[in-house]
Amino acid sequence: MTTEYARKLHFSSIVVDTHSDSLARTVDDGDDLGTDTGRGHMDLPRMRAGHQTAQFFAAYVHPDYLEQGTALQRVLQYTDAMNRLCQEYSDEIELAGTAADIRRIVGSGKLAGILCLEGGHAIIDDLAVLREFHRLGVRYMTLTHNNSNNWGDGILDEERHGGLTDFGRDVVREMNRVGILVDISHVSVKTFWDAMETTTKPVIASHSSSYVICQNPRNMNDDQLRAVAKNGGVVGVNFEVTFVSQSRNVEEDRLNTRRDQELAGASDDAKEEIESRYKGLVNQLARPDWTEIVDHIDHMVKVAGIDHVGLGSDFDGCRLPNGMEDCTKVPKITEELVRRGYSDTDIRKILGENTLRVMEAALGE
Ligand SMILES: [Zn+2]
Repeated sequence: MTTEYARKLHFSSIVVDTHSDSLARTVDDGDDLGTDTGRGHMDLPRMRAGHQTAQFFAAYVHPDYLEQGTALQRVLQYTDAMNRLCQEYSDEIELAGTAADIRRIVGSGKLAGILCLEGGHAIIDDLAVLREFHRLGVRYMTLTHNNSNNWGDGILDEERHGGLTDFGRDVVREMNRVGILVDISHVSVKTFWDAMETTTKPVIASHSSSYVICQNPRNMNDDQLRAVAKNGGVVGVNFEVTFVSQSRNVEEDRLNTRRDQELAGASDDAKEEIESRYKGLVNQLARPDWTEIVDHIDHMVKVAGIDHVGLGSDFDGCRLPNGMEDCTKVPKITEELVRRGYSDTDIRKILGENTLRVMEAALGE
């Protein structure tokens, strides 16, 4: 139950969420996000219900597509899905490219969708491709996904370059120039520092939480948070259970290690059984309470300051805490922030104004 006060505040704010994988449901499963899909974490009716007014929709390109030579096609499938959604439900949602677009679209009572790209390998090491992605509407790009690519190291892969190569730095500079936010979620720590040294514009960590609270490598340590603050950027807190809760993170890690040990000595037949058994065990693990998301916000605000924290749920790309089952529950975050003593102005910053400011600074008016 949200209080009337928090409800009014939430529903009169521009809420910007910097990461959702929902478009993949359209591309891979044919889900029509304009309808009440009854599955996943969001669709347009539920965005309305939760006042999820501006959503960055990710085009995630698995590295396999690059190997198969179909990375570009994969990106186009996402941009097509986004455009078709905006055409078919033109009274509901409109594609935005700037903060001013978002303010205008939301002001007119519609939802704003912003395209973004997850996995820098999708530019196929070609700045021309990067520039054309911008023309298609892409407004941020994670320099890497978890994998290391030809010009930058990802956080869960072998170190290939020790950060960014010279070309990787050129990619950052070209993103600054054409107006694509440099997203440092998913990059290795060294890639992060190289990107921070190279960028002349505020950056975004579109979906990362606090490493001090939960020691998942996808999260950001306090030095990184302070560096993003100094750069004028914004970090969108990720709702994924193993990014939010350290106990869940440790337990799942422990199961994954045991699973990998069993897999190592197993025959092909046994492997399937092991995989499904451990999947069941992981599913049985306790989920954290949704208020732990707000603990991350508290910590990030304490370290980086109120101007550098936002929302980056990872809806449809994560497992959600109890009480945050889908995007209709986001108003509870506003209520919890009210309860913890944040001012209206500060809450609006976290809900969206910080991200809008970064867009204005890095992408132009
Ligand atoms: Zn991601």
